[in-house]
Amino acid sequence: MPHHPKKRFGQNFLRDQTVLQNIIACIQPQTDQHVLEIGPGQAALTHLLVDKVKRLDVVEIDFDLIPDLQNLATRHPALKVHQADVLKFDLRQLTNQEYSLRVVGNLPYNISTPLLFHLLEYKNLLRDIHVMLQDEVVERITATPGHHAYGRLSVMLQYHCQCEKLLDVPPTAFHPMPQVNSAVVRLIPYAQLPLQAHDYSRFAAVVQAAFAERRKMIRNTLKSFLSAEDFVALNLDPQLRAENLSVADFVRISNYLSSRKSRSDYPGSRLL
Ligand code: SAM
Repeated sequence: MPHHPKKRFGQNFLRDQTVLQNIIACIQPQTDQHVLEIGPGQAALTHLLVDKVKRLDVVEIDFDLIPDLQNLATRHPALKVHQADVLKFDLRQLTNQEYSLRVVGNLPYNISTPLLFHLLEYKNLLRDIHVMLQDEVVERITATPGHHAYGRLSVMLQYHCQCEKLLDVPPTAFHPMPQVNSAVVRLIPYAQLPLQAHDYSRFAAVVQAAFAERRKMIRNTLKSFLSAEDFVALNLDPQLRAENLSVADFVRISNYLSSRKSRSDYPGSRLL
């Protein structure tokens, strides 16, 4: 029976062979590598990957697509099929080797942001991530300060990963055609962070607060974190907006808060 694409699972299947070959050329899979494909669907990418790598795990939520994937797996021992919601899937069951797993996928656009944050939780297992996303989301991921697309997603992903847009993909490459343009992005998690927040949850909280109302000045959005004196100590213009601050600025603010807190925690610190 033919499979009818399901909107609720964001099913837009890739049909354009040139685009598929271009994606493979970006990934450059190697025979000693371990790949995780998210949302294999009707296996357009899976077919091109399965003979090229040592192991290919695929995670697909749609039960109706599992039998064909299992069939493919009987012919290719490298392929392991997991029927699961990738947002609940623990990547530690696939490997414990640091920076080894390569993640690929033409992602369901409705879950792309939570999925990227889910992947970040396992970033020390990931060698790289090559994913197709809505073009607008790729723009947000790779945007630099001052750009209209620059926001929380840009800061949080650029903190952890080197981010690079690789390919534009038009709606005509898919069936059914999505209403938006798509793009492939490469994320490479840093083994050594170039900028290190001493307290990661504080860094994340500052970024979230600053972008909660991106048109407002940081004097207002960060007022629960920074006083007028703090802005002076940081040599930071309180009239700036979140979109003007670089990843380095956010790290600097959160590290300043961490050092101020640890000084005040230290007995007698008020006298220092
Ligand atoms: N990779 C295929 C291709 O390029 O033709 C399919 C891409 S389609 C945009 C997204 C795929 O992700 C679908 O097969 C869909 O069923 C699957 N999917 C959607 N939500 C998922 C989830 N939460 N966990 C795992 N797979 C999911």
